[in-house]
Amino acid sequence: MTELLHMKDNYLREFDAQVLETGVDYVILNCTAFYPEGGGQSSDTGFLSDGSREVRVKSVKKIEGRIHHVLEGSPFSEGSKIHGQIDWDSRYKCMRFHTAQHVLSRYLQLNYGVETVGNSISPNESRADYAPLELFDDEMKREVEAGVNSILKDNIDVQILFMPRDEAISFLNEKGYQTRYLEMVPKSVREFRVLVIGDYDAASCAGTHVANTREIGEIRIGKSKNVGAGKRRIYFTLADS
Ligand SMILES: [Zn+2]
Repeated sequence: MTELLHMKDNYLREFDAQVLETGVDYVILNCTAFYPEGGGQSSDTGFLSDGSREVRVKSVKKIEGRIHHVLEGSPFSEGSKIHGQIDWDSRYKCMRFHTAQHVLSRYLQLNYGVETVGNSISPNESRADYAPLELFDDEMKREVEAGVNSILKDNIDVQILFMPRDEAISFLNEKGYQTRYLEMVPKSVREFRVLVIGDYDAASCAGTHVANTREIGEIRIGKSKNVGAGKRRIYFTLADS
């Protein structure tokens, strides 16, 4: 089992670990700060080093519950002591995008009664799918963009809480937050990581997030399109990148 260090510390850029297992093009470590692709968020990239050579990590994937660091060079041998470093620029953009997506989703839920039914967070452009949302004209786009940006400007602290499964579900239900996606979490998961954005939003999420909404700046909403079954995909970027 690999301990996922990002679950508690989203700002950890470097870490020390040991190789538990070596595959053809990957290693499994005892712990990692790399975010493994999942929950709509793309994986981190970066480097692993054993002190004598440095190997690029091109992706990190969760395969049958095991975290594979997929390498561009030959893997380190089992038992090696490793220093890991993640590509911080890309990761930090994902953090800003991901927290922004939660605020955007809550804004659309509160003001337009729509649910988030999918998302894709990557360092360059992110998107989320909303339903039911057939129409999203220029006027709505401007209104949503301005509304979300005014919330981001409020310097809201973002907290990560760990709650027992039932407590998390009743907490989210009571507050009227979205709980639809919680049904997809396997019953074997007894503890939920709950991301709380002040009084504005709370959601179960394993992704990486900023500590305060001021770190996001403003978002720009781009194109949107219908993707069937009453779903609309909305693309957005960070205003400063
Ligand atoms: Zn999330």
